[in-house]
Amino acid sequence: MKKVLIVGSGLFGAVCAYELNKKGYQITVIEKRDHIAGNIYTEKIENINVHRYGAHIFHTSDKAVWNYVNQFAEFNNYINSPIAIYKDELYNLPFNMNTFSKLFNVKTPKEAKERIEEEKKNYHLENVTNLEEQAINLVGKTIYEKLIKGYTAKQWGKPCTELPSFIIKRLPVRFTFDNNYFNDRYQGIPIGGYTQIIEKMLSGIKVYTSTNFFDRKQEYLNEYDYIIYTGAIDEYFDYSLGHLEYRTVYFKTEVLDCDNYQGNAVVNYTDYDVPYTRVIEHKHFEFDSTSPKTVVSKEYSKKFETGDEPYYPVNDETNSRLFNRYRELAENEKKVFFGGRLGQYKYFDMDDVIISAWNFLKTFSL
Ligand code: FAD
Ligand code: UDP
Repeated sequence: MKKVLIVGSGLFGAVCAYELNKKGYQITVIEKRDHIAGNIYTEKIENINVHRYGAHIFHTSDKAVWNYVNQFAEFNNYINSPIAIYKDELYNLPFNMNTFSKLFNVKTPKEAKERIEEEKKNYHLENVTNLEEQAINLVGKTIYEKLIKGYTAKQWGKPCTELPSFIIKRLPVRFTFDNNYFNDRYQGIPIGGYTQIIEKMLSGIKVYTSTNFFDRKQEYLNEYDYIIYTGAIDEYFDYSLGHLEYRTVYFKTEVLDCDNYQGNAVVNYTDYDVPYTRVIEHKHFEFDSTSPKTVVSKEYSKKFETGDEPYYPVNDETNSRLFNRYRELAENEKKVFFGGRLGQYKYFDMDDVIISAWNFLKTFSL
């Protein structure tokens, strides 16, 4: 029976562990943190499921992915509808008729489109090359200035003129009164949190937490037939080609002695002068109206330094080139496969991670 080591107990590692275990491979999972589930880990504080590594909303248009995750948890009908606060003004996100009517005092889609076209007039937007141009092209100057410019600069630590345009294309722009942040067909939060999903996937499998692959890299390479590695690809190669850039976030989490702090799960602070990007009130993900207290996390973004958690790959041209060179090295590692957000250096959502793990497993014949 072939022995497979899986490095990392996040969603990518857990899907691989679950599927390969079913096929009869001998699976061991190691995880450097003191808990499983990677960035989707949730824990109970004051009986509220807290998303320790940031707000996670499951959304997908892929029915097979939706059915798959529903095997491991029951999902509620949460729809993400964040609020944006700019100075003392309050707007609906994503950019939709509610946002346009409040900002521009318009009532119809036609009026909103005319206003946006008017705001684009002074810009040459034929060849959009960066996030600022892309944003103005989509929603005009006013929304760019109030709701995008400051938030994005805080989030990425760079001005929008130096960022790739695709980042802003993640957000829908709609000329309907619809505050749903996502366009996907299926959306929700697992009732009881995400950790149970990974627990069920890893049930019956040997899992060692607080265990870092690099403490025994050579021994693992000798001992196992195959390794599925979901940590950072540059770290695996000891940064031999240089460091890939990541963006990291950190959270200040507090228990507050009130039952409802901000009335919404996610509130974005789009003004550059407010040091955090968003405030998460966890109880609203599960419509909890019974707890007398609430748990609130302020999310701050900062430059990645050694020792920080590498949360977001920075997929600009320089980093993409460097990643491609690491990928060439990875292809020569005959028994090691690289997967997940860090192993593939991609801005993956959870559904992308599941699809990517499935695709990988199709090619993985031992
Ligand atoms: P991870 O969850 O990072 O798992 C990798 C695991 O490997 C980690 O547990 C790590 O500790 C472990 N590891 C690394 N190196 C080693 C080592 N040397 N030895 C042992 N273990 C190691 N997606 C959505 O779909 N919806 C959302 O709303 C959403 N919100 C997000 C918000 C934030 C702030 C962030 C950062 C991400 C968000 N995502 C969201 C993306 C989602 O978190 C990822 O798609 C998913 O968790 C990635 O799974 P993974 O297994 O690839 O990586
Ligand atoms: N964004 C913004 N204002 C907001 C929310 C998002 O300008 O209020 C931009 C920002 O550049 C961000 C991108 O849209 O990086 C994608 O936002 P999303 O909420 O998808 O980011 P994530 O949840 O991955 O942090």
